[in-house]
Amino acid sequence: MSQASETLFSKIIRREIPADIVYEDDIALAFRDIHPQAPVHILVIPKHPIPKLADAQPEDQALLGHLLLTVKIVAAQEGLNKGYRVVINTGEDGGQTVYHLHLHILGGRSLKWPPG
Ligand code: AMP
Repeated sequence: MSQASETLFSKIIRREIPADIVYEDDIALAFRDIHPQAPVHILVIPKHPIPKLADAQPEDQALLGHLLLTVKIVAAQEGLNKGYRVVINTGEDGGQTVYHLHLHILGGRSLKWPPG
């Protein structure tokens, strides 16, 4: 399995820096994005720090599935019954800035397509 360098998301998991945490279980953590791009903007991360989706391995299959099901739980918790968008920015061209895999949940307004 790939090793991730330490990111600020590891510090959020360990409660070393503050975050508005909205969901937690043994595998995943979800917290509000500090620069929200929509009325609801939440990041879902694995506690095991895979740097980016491109680094995921076959043995991460269950973890990746867990993250998607966590998105569903959190979206329902947030009342996003009209829908929402799930984004995984991956690598430089994908606009990734924090190298700890995370799924953005964006909702609470009508989102445009395609994204910029
Ligand atoms: P990405 O560009 O996909 O790597 O997304 C990283 C996201 O992390 C951005 O949307 C940032 O606003 C968000 N972010 C950075 N620092 C924090 C933090 N301390 N707490 C919550 N969200 C953060």
